[in-house]
Amino acid sequence: MPRSDRILMGPGPCNPYPEAIEAFGRPMLGHLDPEFLALLDDVCDRLRSLFGTTNALTVPISGTGSAGMETCIVNVLGPGDVAVIGVNGVFGQRMCDVASRTGAEVVRVDFEWGTPVTAERLLNAHPSPTLIGMVHAETSTGARSDVAEIGAGKGDALLLVDCVTSLGGLEFRADDWGVDLAYSGTQKCLGVPPGLSPITVSDRARDRFVAKSQSWYLDLRLIGDYVGTPGAKRAYHHTAPISMIFSLHGGLTAIADEGVDAVIERHATCGTAVQDGLVGLGFELFAQEGHRLPQLTTVRVPSGVDEAAIRSDLLGTYGIEIGGGLGEYAGKVWRVGCMGHTARERNVTTLVAALGELMAR
Ligand code: PLP
Repeated sequence: MPRSDRILMGPGPCNPYPEAIEAFGRPMLGHLDPEFLALLDDVCDRLRSLFGTTNALTVPISGTGSAGMETCIVNVLGPGDVAVIGVNGVFGQRMCDVASRTGAEVVRVDFEWGTPVTAERLLNAHPSPTLIGMVHAETSTGARSDVAEIGAGKGDALLLVDCVTSLGGLEFRADDWGVDLAYSGTQKCLGVPPGLSPITVSDRARDRFVAKSQSWYLDLRLIGDYVGTPGAKRAYHHTAPISMIFSLHGGLTAIADEGVDAVIERHATCGTAVQDGLVGLGFELFAQEGHRLPQLTTVRVPSGVDEAAIRSDLLGTYGIEIGGGLGEYAGKVWRVGCMGHTARERNVTTLVAALGELMAR
């Protein structure tokens, strides 16, 4: 099976939009070339529209989703601060790990995996946290958590939301929901290869930046001067990954051309088709009903099935990649992604038919 024929239905990366790949062929520009800076401005504008925000500080961080997570955290947390973090899977755990490395006190609020983080427990976990953190779309379990109620009740705290798996695949309304800091990744519903982490930061969060961030590279006071806040000095900070930014621009163009609402609707339709198809094959869905992500479906692997062998056959025979479970669910669930350019009916039909054939063997 040629590599180019892979159908990437794991938790990420997805198949990128053709526009995102073609963009790598653009001739190189200098990272301070006015043409490049104009394209970067356009990228930031398009990101604002996807994040649902007017935040000036909305930029692609040079690094994967985890770099966005660290950026948001190291700029607002340090010793003496308190971070309340909802954990219903691997990425909430990671947020706790990163936050604790800043010296802040972390109040971890655990929820059963596969269920959402809920406002009541999160908001009552501490009387005056500096930050409340949560994951909108938990890729390790396939569960969606609602942000708006937590934003409405956050009080004086800053609200940090991981939207690595949701941005471009689910509605996201940072300003309406009271989100102060959010980060995503290019390789999921944005339909671009991995390598950048779009983030958005409210003015309220900027007013509370720590005096000196513990990371030089991810210091937003320095990055903001280069990347794109209005009136920025455009001074050299680091050499931007130009071709990745071209690629992100290509992916965002594909989304804008199709229309954001249509793209979100396509993810919803494909997610329903994946879930119906897998239930039709006899699988039990893992995430709680009413909180299932369309772009990432989790199913329990029936006992007695050699799950690694089936995934390997799916890849070897049909060129389809799906993901195994993480943490305590390794070997127990499969994670089926339907994100970005992969979220097409033909891919769903192929997966369900192929999996049905392998399970019947
Ligand atoms: N947060 C979530 C919800 C994720 O799914 C991922 C990656 O899968 C990350 C954070 C980390 O992103 P990356 O692997 O791009 O560093």
